[in-house]
Amino acid sequence: MSRLVVASNRVADLEAGARSGGLAVALGDALAEGQGLWFGWDGTVIEDDRSAQVSIAEQRGVTKATIALTRREHDTYYLGYSNKLLWPAFHYRLDLTEIAPRFLDGYRRVNRRLAGALVPLLRPDDLIWIHDYHLIPMGAELRSHGIVHPMGFFLHIPFPSPDILLAVPGHDWLVRTLFSYDVVGFQTRSDVAQFARYVEEHAGGRRLSRDRLEAFGRSIVTREFPIGIDVAAFHATAHAPAADAHIARLERRSMAGVHIIGVDRLDYTKGLPERLKAFRRLLELYPENRKAVTFMQIAPPTREEVYAYAEIRQELEGLTGAINGEFGDYDWTPVRYVHRIVPRETLAALYRGSKVGFVTPFRDGMNLVAKEYIAAQDADDPGVLVLSRFAGAAEELDQALIVNPYDVDEMTAALQHALTMRKYERRDRHRALMKRIMQNDVNAWRESFLAALRGCGDRRQGGMNAN
Ligand code: ADP
Repeated sequence: MSRLVVASNRVADLEAGARSGGLAVALGDALAEGQGLWFGWDGTVIEDDRSAQVSIAEQRGVTKATIALTRREHDTYYLGYSNKLLWPAFHYRLDLTEIAPRFLDGYRRVNRRLAGALVPLLRPDDLIWIHDYHLIPMGAELRSHGIVHPMGFFLHIPFPSPDILLAVPGHDWLVRTLFSYDVVGFQTRSDVAQFARYVEEHAGGRRLSRDRLEAFGRSIVTREFPIGIDVAAFHATAHAPAADAHIARLERRSMAGVHIIGVDRLDYTKGLPERLKAFRRLLELYPENRKAVTFMQIAPPTREEVYAYAEIRQELEGLTGAINGEFGDYDWTPVRYVHRIVPRETLAALYRGSKVGFVTPFRDGMNLVAKEYIAAQDADDPGVLVLSRFAGAAEELDQALIVNPYDVDEMTAALQHALTMRKYERRDRHRALMKRIMQNDVNAWRESFLAALRGCGDRRQGGMNAN
């Protein structure tokens, strides 16, 4: 069997087990099965005049090869091109992008350096799987070293429409580098369609079949592989005795019996201010919810070095204070805002203990919180998911209450609908949603991607690929 080599910006802590989340566990399991290699940045930043060496460590049968970034690389590759340009642009926020020539230069250089550091670690029969927007050109850099292995890339964030992508300096080069892979995977059909449109309209390429595109003299498999969670494990966590204790404590401490929950990194793509405004409208329009419903928003800090993130934090704190000031009383705080990471066991219990999961990003590659909320529910008396139509998950989860995250009144109406929904309807919707997330769980995601990648390797060995 081939060895699996995964490259991603960060390498997960495989000892953290369930705490590190489904993706790390799923990739960790696949790597552990075949004594695989996981390669990426170690999370540290060193001064520019020091040189970074690859460190090798073994964890749960997996070799972890990690490397530091210099300060300049961190500023240009990580904070700059990846997080001040690709992240906002790919989430349709051109207004928040920052453009500087040194960003693109740093991004190229780091991808080149990382590829160069990975080459000596590769073996002839490896399958290579590269992840996410930080490392789009890494495959092309590996090819320039003569690496001919089957190589796949998966984009965890949305792929934007060509009109947006054209505003990203380096867009033509980025798309060309994607044609160095054998398989390019996206979260949704809509992402695949946007990519195909760019290739056909701006890169002189053409579609060969439903999941094959040709451009720059190469043909690649390109398809959606919707990412999922480990449904059974998450459900078990939400129903463990420790979860019962969490829920009992929540009920004891809160005068309001009903909770709406939101869980997101504190990111401007998540639609948090509009969500708070919809909750305020709910209290205004339907006063029966006062002292009866609490909105708990868990939003830990993230990427605080980027200015746009400091701004969103201030806005959210201001709105929370205003709502609590206007409606709160000595025995009820309408919004509970938790600005920290919560252990997964607690999170699972909070989802289960909440009647509504409120997940309204402006744009999201997939949104795993939506799937976690469904997995945590009690099938006999489940809560209701209110979900943005612009989360990738909405393509699969059409039995949620689907809303426009920009339309505060529509979200308010959906909240009221969720809070008053009869049990039989909640059960029917939940059953359909559970079925979807179990079909597309994280193991199905991993296996279908790897099967597509192995298929390309086989084609090539059989001499069928003209690439
Ligand atoms: P993104 O990848 O943009 O952060 P997702 O919804 O796809 O969005 O994934 C977020 C993951 O982070 C989920 O697994 C969620 O449980 C986890 N998470 C989000 N907020 C917290 C928090 N406060 N504490 C612990 N885990 C969190």
